[in-house]
Amino acid sequence: MSTFFYYDKNECKFVPIEYNSLDRFIHTSAQLLLYGIVVTGIVIALMSAYAGTPAEIALKAENKELLSQLQRTKTTIVTLDEQITRLAENDNELYRTVLGLEPLSYDERLAGTGGADVHSRLDVYQAETSELMKWTLTNLESLERRVNIQKLSFDEIKHYYNENQDKMRHIPAIRPINSIITSGFGLRMHPVYRFRRPHDGVDFRARIGTPIYATGDGQVSLAGRNGTYGITIKIDHGYGFESLYAHLSSIEQGVRVGRRVQRGDIIGYTGDTGVVEGPHLHYEVIRDGRAVDPLNYMFADLSPEEYLAFRRISEENEKSMD
Ligand SMILES: [Zn+2]
Repeated sequence: MSTFFYYDKNECKFVPIEYNSLDRFIHTSAQLLLYGIVVTGIVIALMSAYAGTPAEIALKAENKELLSQLQRTKTTIVTLDEQITRLAENDNELYRTVLGLEPLSYDERLAGTGGADVHSRLDVYQAETSELMKWTLTNLESLERRVNIQKLSFDEIKHYYNENQDKMRHIPAIRPINSIITSGFGLRMHPVYRFRRPHDGVDFRARIGTPIYATGDGQVSLAGRNGTYGITIKIDHGYGFESLYAHLSSIEQGVRVGRRVQRGDIIGYTGDTGVVEGPHLHYEVIRDGRAVDPLNYMFADLSPEEYLAFRRISEENEKSMD
């Protein structure tokens, strides 16, 4: 039984998630489908043997029903295929990339998909039936391989995580504020300067005075006024990671350069200092000196639904609050 994991920020480790049902579902559908194929084959064989007997009408009806079952199964396989593709994309883009593991290539994920002729024994049936059977078998096998590779990938991630707990505590991996993203990373229209330029972070909508949390363990490397960023805090997390929080109204007492903070500590409060359109938090993640998309690093407390919602808002909003 394969198991997926999610990151529990209180426990600081990955714990199994109830994804078993997907697995079970795939295996059950696979079995049902194979039974279906065998039964269809028998029915077709019987049909050709007893053509012209009174049983023919009944068998025809049964055959029709089996074919339509096979069609429905095909639809299910297409849906499962889309789901496993999304899982694999998240796996590559989020977990593996963030942890610094090599993304698995599409070829690796498809690992040895057989040619079309491995099921040539099905050619004895009518063209439509044999095509449908071949499609179903080939795609089920591919699906099963991809699920297995996904399981291996998650196992590798879990192992990496458990071996690198200290690094995991330091990566800026949570939301810096209990709010939603209004503008994403990349080229955005600047609200004040009115031209498109790279937006090095994400913006969270927030009323003035909303608490801001350190997104990973680290050491404060900047705390004070910082040009157009207004009152700014920067944390050096080590392992090549830094995080930056801009346009604050105030800095939490005791937070100053050199101070060690832990993930979840309150470090300051949102405001509208610097060049901004209105109160918000501008948040950056810097990896090896370069700004990266912070959304890819919030894997520790975003559900897949929240991630997708944030990703959508972040991509649709053309304008930053800066
Ligand atoms: Zn911004």
